[in-house]
Amino acid sequence: MSHELTQFRSFLRTDTARLMLTYLSIIMIMSLSFSIVLYATSTSQLERQRPPRSAIGITDDFPMQTPSGFRSFINQRIEEGKRDIFAKLAVINLLVLAGGSIFSYYLARRTLEPIEEAMDAQTQFVSDASHELRTPLTALRTTNEVALRRKKLTLTDARETIQDNLDEIARLQQLTDGLLRLSAHQPTLTLGDVKLTEVVDTALATVAPKAVDKRISVDNLIPTITLHADDGALTQIITILLDNAIKYSPDDTTITLTAAHDARGGTYIHVADQGVGIAEQDVSHIFTRFYRADASRSQTQGYGLGLPIAHRLVKAHHGTLSVESTLEQGSTFTVYIPVKK
Ligand code: ADP
Repeated sequence: MSHELTQFRSFLRTDTARLMLTYLSIIMIMSLSFSIVLYATSTSQLERQRPPRSAIGITDDFPMQTPSGFRSFINQRIEEGKRDIFAKLAVINLLVLAGGSIFSYYLARRTLEPIEEAMDAQTQFVSDASHELRTPLTALRTTNEVALRRKKLTLTDARETIQDNLDEIARLQQLTDGLLRLSAHQPTLTLGDVKLTEVVDTALATVAPKAVDKRISVDNLIPTITLHADDGALTQIITILLDNAIKYSPDDTTITLTAAHDARGGTYIHVADQGVGIAEQDVSHIFTRFYRADASRSQTQGYGLGLPIAHRLVKAHHGTLSVESTLEQGSTFTVYIPVKK
């Protein structure tokens, strides 16, 4: 019993209980006020039926003298009527209290659930981000400590250390940029008519050095089509997909870019590579931030933020981002941007 009492006490301290009690108070105040008014009106109606004590009290309602036996009978019925109304209202209020408690609890949960979910997601995000930041920071610290401990630090050593530091800083910058983009609220888009070929050319120019390094050729089959989108956001989406296609493809392969309007006027953009592919169990996770397929973790640098950012930007356009992939054969990422909403 004391265990249940402790549980009940700790429940009362929760936000759900507080909100539930607030809702319940509102319901009970309304129900009690209504009952008081109802009781007052009904009893005053009953009082009007009370016969006058004497002939002096003859009124329009009781235009004749009432015999005393009949008078006390009426009085008794009036008192009974009052008690009856009181009892019924009490029962109704108890029922409202019971029903109201359940309803308030349900309402409180419905109100708090999305807030709790958002808070949990926020906490998870902060903890994931701190975790990811720790690795490059530790690397930076170690490189510098090792350099400092050296008895003789030659100019070449110093340059090497500085170069390592700069590489780590570049990675950190990439990570914080990604985090910032993901933590910001819904991205605000400036929609306009965008020439797809121009967007793709800008994205290609950004990733070209990486493609050249791996002798990856890009088959750009994008037709001259216009779509309603945010220029910068679309460039970013395609850059992320191209960057991944290069990162996860072996040397001397080809990436193919195609696009087309569908019957409803929306636009499909496909980025197909001949890379490592994505295992079936990973496909459903790759749009989740910080998720990286096991194979990618060991091979390439990255933080698992590219696809979540691309996904967010596509969603802001009310579009979809999907993938079809076969291990060791390649992946095709498809962006769909619907017509203007
Ligand atoms: P990152 O590339 O930094 O790891 P992303 O969010 O861009 O982060 O991608 C998440 C994961 O999805 C990658 O780690 C990789 O496992 C997988 N992935 C993304 N694009 C491709 C691709 N074109 N081919 C194979 N795997 C891919």
